[in-house]
Amino acid sequence: MEIKKVLLSEDEMPRQWYNILADIKMNPPLGPDGNPVNPDQLAPVFPMNLIEQEVSSQRWIDIPDEVLSVYRIWRPSPLVRAYALEKALDTPARIYYKNEGVSPPGSHKPNTAVPQAYYNKVFGIKRLTTETGAGQWGSALAFACSQFGLTCKVFMVRVSFDQKPYRKSMMTAWGAECVASPSTATKAGRDILEKNPDTPGSLGIAISEAVEAAVSDTSGQTRYSLGSVLNHVMLHQTIIGLEAKKQLEKIGEYPNIIIGCAGGGSNFAGIAYPFVYDKIHGKDVAIYPVEPAACPTLTRAPFAYDHGDTAGYTPLLPMHSLGHTFVPAPIHAGGLRYHGMAPTVSQLVDEGMLEPKAVEQLAAFEAGVLFARTEGIIPAPETNHALACLVDEAKKAKEEGKEKVILCNWSGHGLIDLGSYDKYFSGELKDFALSDAEKEKYTSIMANYPKPQHLKSR
Ligand SMILES: *Cc1c(COP(=O)(O)O)cnc(C)c1O
Repeated sequence: MEIKKVLLSEDEMPRQWYNILADIKMNPPLGPDGNPVNPDQLAPVFPMNLIEQEVSSQRWIDIPDEVLSVYRIWRPSPLVRAYALEKALDTPARIYYKNEGVSPPGSHKPNTAVPQAYYNKVFGIKRLTTETGAGQWGSALAFACSQFGLTCKVFMVRVSFDQKPYRKSMMTAWGAECVASPSTATKAGRDILEKNPDTPGSLGIAISEAVEAAVSDTSGQTRYSLGSVLNHVMLHQTIIGLEAKKQLEKIGEYPNIIIGCAGGGSNFAGIAYPFVYDKIHGKDVAIYPVEPAACPTLTRAPFAYDHGDTAGYTPLLPMHSLGHTFVPAPIHAGGLRYHGMAPTVSQLVDEGMLEPKAVEQLAAFEAGVLFARTEGIIPAPETNHALACLVDEAKKAKEEGKEKVILCNWSGHGLIDLGSYDKYFSGELKDFALSDAEKEKYTSIMANYPKPQHLKSR
């Protein structure tokens, strides 16, 4: 009998995360004075135990028992062989996808929400603030906070708040408060509403609001939590790739190609970094982060220093960025509408270790629908971007007549995103490629910032 799912027992779940900072060189984040940020400067925003993880260069970091026991609600997640998709594409490639849609909020995001809530709780924090795009991060943090008894306030990007009302219902079910961003609750939000009352909002704006709401609480019991981009988030997500590696080993496979969609870079990093480690040490594996053509950070934006948020509250991060005031077209993959990219992903792209791809919204939905009609489960619009690349690679394997092994991160299900499928079926969805003129306009904001060095890790 052919094996469809490769499962790990709870005992076999990894007990440590993999920290890529042990194996690559990085440009430092820079503070307002132009010097590298020192960890104490981040203390009003994050708890010190997470700041220590953010800057750690220890290769393996233990996963606390309290985190493992919440992970066990859905982890280890299944690795699934996509036989039906392979058949539909008539490809010699063997396709495996790691199903991160089985978590309570339906995506990979609780892999970091749970440890973040845990470390804040241990540090004595009572309340977390955050932003959310499509709502997956807000719902993941709401779930995690409910597991550890923390209060949670979520600023949700306006366009998604209107398009995806059920994510707000999920947050409310887990006891969190969710408001549309820009809001009148913060100075950052009020300033933007004054200039542009009809703005669809952006992740950059929502981050400014959530950071402001955290640091302006004078009791000292509120901190901010970020769902992607930062080093400690990438670290927590490596549980995905570490499990996948064990699962593939069980059946004697090793991937030729690894694919993940990339918004801020966390689910991609999660599946890819344990294999990037192998690549740094000489393995031959092609690794593709996939982004939307409407927000082409890795494929078209410069590797530069830029702020992580629109108001410019965060340190300057060395990353591929479209400029911190960039407001992407309102595509339905809300989780991929971020102007920047994780510094570690950006660094690896700059060194040529990863080969980024961009796909259009309609091609993404086409691949998602094919997936739903073959493998049966309905992917999130973000995940569809990875699937479009997967389909391309499977077709290429057919043309070349090669039995490639492709590993794809299935970052989440689309059951709360069915409104966007309806729009796709009724022909209302459009492609939005960013014009060069628009790109120049937004990226020019970084012209006078320091420039990161081109470093080589191997
Ligand atoms: C948030 C999200 C993404 C994009 O975020 P990353 O940090 O790049 O992983 C991708 N897929 C799903 C399902 C998401 O919820």
